[in-house]
Amino acid sequence: MNALRPAPRACERLAQASADFEAKLSQTQELLRAASRDHVAIKQASSLGAEDVVISHLIAELGLPITVFVLDTGALHHQTLALLERQQAAARWPIEVHRPDASRVIEWVARHGQSAIYERIESRKDCCRVRKLEPLARALQGQTAWITGLRREQSDARAEVPLVDTSELATLGRTKYNPLAHWSWGDVWHWIAHEQIDYNPLHDDFYPSIGCAPCTRAISLGEPFRAGRWWWEDESAKECGLHVRAA
Ligand code: SF4
Repeated sequence: MNALRPAPRACERLAQASADFEAKLSQTQELLRAASRDHVAIKQASSLGAEDVVISHLIAELGLPITVFVLDTGALHHQTLALLERQQAAARWPIEVHRPDASRVIEWVARHGQSAIYERIESRKDCCRVRKLEPLARALQGQTAWITGLRREQSDARAEVPLVDTSELATLGRTKYNPLAHWSWGDVWHWIAHEQIDYNPLHDDFYPSIGCAPCTRAISLGEPFRAGRWWWEDESAKECGLHVRAA
């Protein structure tokens, strides 16, 4: 009788470097060096997803003085929080953790009820505003640049993401670096497997994009990359406000 074999881990089934991976890697490393050279006040925003653990690893390997921060919304999966603990224990420099104002969250839930996020898009965006955008603004206060894990492949809305995004310069005075913008999903996992980078085990359970627990589910074969985020909403609405580009 055949025993059921466990599904391969994400780092086993997804790792597949592009033909030009080495060139992409060099470009990413050079971009991170240049970002660090050009900005004293620069931070990496990490969701602790696959792209972000790759970027944090590159920053550490290159020895760049770039602070990493995480937004702990109070609604993250326990697997994400456990990864944060492991990263904090292993990090050369402290990882900043920014949380929403607890009294505002309590007041919001008391007034609206947490299930309101599934009923009205305005309520969902309002929850993101309280739990994510306000702490993000605090995390980026005084920064002239930040680094994110956005990739063009992630969704149609991100198909044009540039490596260096200056669209926030006029409004917020910041440059946004997206050093993996041109990487494929296979590239990301190739580097995780190659470098044996610690990652969120939810990726093994078919969560490609990981956010808050109430708003993230696993995806099925053939579903788009971000189908598991705010799955009850239209595709066009699937951003939380962290990455809206100025027109
Ligand atoms: S992702 Fe969901 S739980 Fe997290 S802040 Fe947004 S609406 Fe709230």
